[in-house]
Amino acid sequence: MMQPAPALVSLQGISKIFSSGVTALAGFDLDIRAGEFISLLGPSGCGKSTVLRLIAGLAEPTEGRVTWPGSHNNDHRGEIGFVFQDPTLMPWANVADNVWLPLRLRGVSRRDAQDRIAESLALVGLSDFAKAYPRELSGGMRMRVSIARALSLKPRLLLMDEPFAALDEIARFRLNDDLLRLQSELRCTIVFVTHSVYESAYLSSRIAILSPRPGRVVAEIEGLSPGPRAKDFRTSASYTQLCGRISEFLLGQTAGERL
Ligand code: ADP
Ligand code: MG
Repeated sequence: MMQPAPALVSLQGISKIFSSGVTALAGFDLDIRAGEFISLLGPSGCGKSTVLRLIAGLAEPTEGRVTWPGSHNNDHRGEIGFVFQDPTLMPWANVADNVWLPLRLRGVSRRDAQDRIAESLALVGLSDFAKAYPRELSGGMRMRVSIARALSLKPRLLLMDEPFAALDEIARFRLNDDLLRLQSELRCTIVFVTHSVYESAYLSSRIAILSPRPGRVVAEIEGLSPGPRAKDFRTSASYTQLCGRISEFLLGQTAGERL
């Protein structure tokens, strides 16, 4: 057996209790490994978004620790790109200016950001739309802008919170393929939140299955092949089988075991 890659981010003994009294996470342990595509798969309300917010440093755990074992740096915000379910673009700004935003917040002028903006737009296939406004774009294209914006800081870690849930299936399939290609080019680590068995099976090199709230990892499905998929993967028997296996885990029939 190959040694697993070292953890990029480690979540240990995490619990999160909101001031409302809601316990979102309890006994949550997970290592994010450098370079992987890990999906967090679990029912609505189980704490998936909360996990991403804890990793991003946007929230603090009530108990437990979020650490970056290989890093002496204490501030990781510049290393993280966050993509939300809603593209949250500024409607009054064109595509290029929307992508500029994270750099702008770090004091980078529009002119100095120009190359980085162009590069990010090229990565998501939107080079020709720099001057377009969000209202002129389809839902899939808006999500691409949102991804380009997250990439503008060249993050080592991309956190994606159900980014394609609102898209039609055709757009979603295309963005799934584009995302895998993007990751193999950029070699970044991706933590992807979804409640779709099919999407997690298509994208992931590893899947962490979460229990209903309070969320914790009840199963991990490892050793899935990483990277872009062959053309016929979606219709292959191995994909169908994998989806079946994941569904069983999700239904709790074999919760707690490891594959
Ligand atoms: P998921 O993303 O898996 O749907 P969330 O992480 O958004 O779940 O939420 C987990 C639970 O915590 C839910 O019951 C939600 O209502 C609650 N919750 C999330 N954020 C807050 C908050 N800021 N204050 C109070 N409760 C919250
Ligand atoms: Mg959520």
